[in-house]
Amino acid sequence: MTLPKRVFSGARPSGRQHLGNYMGAIRNYVALQEEFDECLYCAVDVHALTTMTSKEETGEIQQNIREMVLDWLAAGLNPEKSIIFVQSHVPEVMTLHTLLSMVTPMGWLMRVPTFKDKVRQMEATDESVPYGLVGYPVLMTADIILYKAEVVPVGEDQLPHLELSREIVRRFNNLFGPVFPEPQARLTESPMILGTDGQAKMSKTMNNHIELAATEDETAAKVKTMVTDPQRARRTDPGRPWVCNVYKLHHWFNPDKLDEVYRECTAAGIGCVDDKKLLAEGVNTYFSEFRERRREFASRDGYVEEVLLDGANRAGAIAKETIREVEESMGLRLKAR
Ligand code: SF4
Repeated sequence: MTLPKRVFSGARPSGRQHLGNYMGAIRNYVALQEEFDECLYCAVDVHALTTMTSKEETGEIQQNIREMVLDWLAAGLNPEKSIIFVQSHVPEVMTLHTLLSMVTPMGWLMRVPTFKDKVRQMEATDESVPYGLVGYPVLMTADIILYKAEVVPVGEDQLPHLELSREIVRRFNNLFGPVFPEPQARLTESPMILGTDGQAKMSKTMNNHIELAATEDETAAKVKTMVTDPQRARRTDPGRPWVCNVYKLHHWFNPDKLDEVYRECTAAGIGCVDDKKLLAEGVNTYFSEFRERRREFASRDGYVEEVLLDGANRAGAIAKETIREVEESMGLRLKAR
């Protein structure tokens, strides 16, 4: 029997999504639904705990899941086609995490490039770093292989993480038999979307983001704050669109106006205030149907909860079967006859 080609991707429940999330992940999620037999999209709430340090932060998880899933649905994730669920709603992932941790050398985990960065960000030391942060790649591997996913959409920067997952799978299969397929990376186009400050990647933490679900006025207000060409001090100065983040965003939201804006900006024919209005209009038009759908889904009582319950049931059925196989292969239970 050949297994269906399964895709898995997880995202931390970060609440309302922004333009960077959309360009980097969500629109790829939507496109993959057309290409593969089965896609699993997971709000990885347990991963979120690895860097949360207070009850105030964890108190936001449920609302953040709801807001993120509403954005996914409004963007076109189809719950009849894809399995949309929350990581902790399928507790088998914790079992697999524990079992995989028995075959994963510590040295592999300490080598992960983002590990040291995270430790630094948390201002932790080797003594105080939480075990969960060290074991993060093992949990990530469990997320993927619990569902025997063969394809994982990743940006180039995430390739080392997936390579580690593949190493863990190879080690497990060598020790206990060929239980898991080695997940393959699917490199997806994920352009770097800079925030309104024009300096850092768009992110909630930097508060330089524009939410997909913002109102038209909120969008315009955010765009108004965007940093443009720093050398263009006066309206009469010619601008340099090639260094300007507003111009970069026109590529996505006003592609038909690129030449005109370039010409007008370099000839000081258009001011930044007017150009920003143009960008805000482009963003608002691009997301107008999205916003309508989102309002509609949000108004349906219990809809998100229903989607997530159905997702957990479907994902749970696959997970139970995998755990049975894993436990049999590791000698933790008798083989079913
Ligand atoms: S006119 Fe537009 S592209 Fe030119 S500097 Fe101002 S905001 Fe940037």
